[in-house]
Order: sequence, then structure tokens, then C-alpha cells
Amino acid sequence: SARTAGRGRVRVFDWSMRERAERVMDLETNLRLALDRGEFVVHYQPIFCLKTLAPRGVEALVRWKRSDGELVPPGEFIPAAEQSGLIIPLGALVLAEACRAFVRWRQTVLGQKPFFMSVNLSARQFTQPELVKQVVTTLRRESMPAADLKLEITESILMEHPESAMLKLRGLRELGVGIGIDDFGTGYSSLSYLQRFPIDTLKIDRGFVSGMEEHGNRVIVRSVVSLAHNLGYEVVAEGIETMGQLDDLAALGCDLGQGYYYARPLVEDRLLELLGRHGAEAAE
Ligand code: C2E
Ligand code: MG
Ligand code: MG
Ligand code: MG
Repeated sequence: SARTAGRGRVRVFDWSMRERAERVMDLETNLRLALDRGEFVVHYQPIFCLKTLAPRGVEALVRWKRSDGELVPPGEFIPAAEQSGLIIPLGALVLAEACRAFVRWRQTVLGQKPFFMSVNLSARQFTQPELVKQVVTTLRRESMPAADLKLEITESILMEHPESAMLKLRGLRELGVGIGIDDFGTGYSSLSYLQRFPIDTLKIDRGFVSGMEEHGNRVIVRSVVSLAHNLGYEVVAEGIETMGQLDDLAALGCDLGQGYYYARPLVEDRLLELLGRHGAEAAE
């Protein structure tokens, strides 16, 4: 009858809900275990000067290296880490690891060259009350120069909690840490909204870069670069995959870039090879 069929449907629905809930819990449990086992690794994608092609910094990007050797990209576990709160210890680990690596490079391949380390902060990391304290503690413990660290946040974080965000950004800027707006253009904020916050870098989202053959997108990128420069920001283009995109962005006056055309996110050893090659060129 309709009634039993109805009940059957409800049961099927319950099952899939339960399965979904279980899968989320499995992921959380596995993330917790992975943290304990030290399965998170940090890769580094070079950020380079569009004029000289010299590397000017890196972005730290976390990966989960599972015991079977599989590398899980952050898109597959950051949301669960964010939801469960595990992003707090995970983020602390990435920040510490990135600073430690940076200090090693300073003492060897980097010397005194201008170079920065950029680290992503999720909404939950940024809004935690202890953030500024945690950053100071890490900088001191790792002997990381504050001026060489940049923290990347998205515009949506600034739009959702403008007052508390302002206080935090001021706290971070007082330390000397740089602030970058990540994925600019994907949210609904504008530069006139962002300019009230103490930020110094604007990262133009990959979507504009890949769409730059279209006249409309080119015009947008050109205006964003010019407005951002007038506001005193340095501009980074994300997701540069072709020489054409690189040339176009350089012609529009964009300062820095990152993308597969130049280099993918690299393990530390590969990054050091790349930095070593550029150091040798500069010294010649
Ligand atoms: P994001 O901060 O915007 O990082 C840039 C992403 O674009 C990275 O993906 C990078 O591998 C990718 N990418 C770089 N160049 C190219 C290109 O030329 N073409 C294409 N198609 N992609 C390119 P990834 O490493 O998978 O990270 C995805 C996102 O996960 C990051 O986006 C960031 O929001 C988040 N994430 C990564 N690491 C961390 C972390 O340590 N903490 C937090 N909170 N979030 C992180
Ligand atoms: Mg980023
Ligand atoms: Mg980005
Ligand atoms: Mg992005």
C-alpha cells in the first residue's frame, strides 16, 4: 500500500542520511588520526615577478599524505577540518612548518634576497580569539621575521565580521605581518569596501586569469590592477597556465604571479632546486 511504500521511502532516506553522517564522521576520525600520525605535508608554490621572472615568495599549500602514499588535495579535507574545528591544530601545524622551512632557506639559498612566505587562513582560524597571540608565539619560537610572513584571507571573512576583522588585522599589522586578499573577484566585495582594512596584497582569482582572452575580463583585470596600485597594494595573479596569460598580465602592470606555467606546488627539495637555479642566474 501507499503507506508501507511511504514508510519504505522514509527508511531509505534515513539510511542515506546516516551514511552521509557516518562518512563525515569517518573523515573527521581519519583527519584526527592523520594529525596524530603526522600525515600532513606542506608544498610550496613559487610566486614570481612578472617582469623579471625571479621567484619572490611562495604560498604554503597543505596536502594529506596518507599511509598508502596517496596525496589528498586540501579541497577534499579542509571543509571537514573547518567544520570539526580540526583546522585549528592543522593550521597551527602548517604555519609552524612553513616558518621553520622559511628560516632554513634564509640561512642557505635565500640569503638576504626579498622573499616572502604566504600562508592561508580559513574563516575559523581567522575568527578564533587567540589568532594574533598564536601568530606571535609561532614567529618567536621559529625565529621567523614577521615582515617575511603574509597571511591570506578571503574577502568574505571581512564582509561577515567587519569589526572584529578590523581589530585582528590591526593586531597582525602591528606585528609587521602582511595581509593578502585571496581569490579576489569571487566574492561580492569591492575595492572601495576593502580599502578601509589594512591589507597590502591583492590576489586576483584564477577565474579572471583563465578568462582573459575575453575583452570584458581583460578590462576588469586592468581596472583592478590600476585601482589596487592606487590604493598601494601589490597585485598577484593566480593560476597562470600559459605564456600568453603571463605576457598579458605583465602588460597590464600586474606585479607578481603564480601558476602551473611557472611551477606547480613543490615539495621542499624541488623548490630549493628552483631557488638554487635562480640564485645562480642572478649571481652570473
Ligand atoms: P588558494 O589559496 O587559492 O590556493 C591556490 C590553489 O590553486 C592551490 O590549490 C594551487 O595548487 C592551485 N593552482 C595554482 N596554480 C594553478 C594553475 O595554474 N592552475 C590551476 N588549475 N590551479 C592552480 P590547492 O593546493 O588544491 O589548494 C586549494 C585551496 O585549499 C587553497 O586555495 C586554499 O583555499 C586551501 N588551502 C590550501 N592549503 C591550506 C592551508 O594550509 N590552510 C587553509 N586554511 N587552507 C588551505
Ligand atoms: Mg591562497
Ligand atoms: Mg587563491
Ligand atoms: Mg583559489
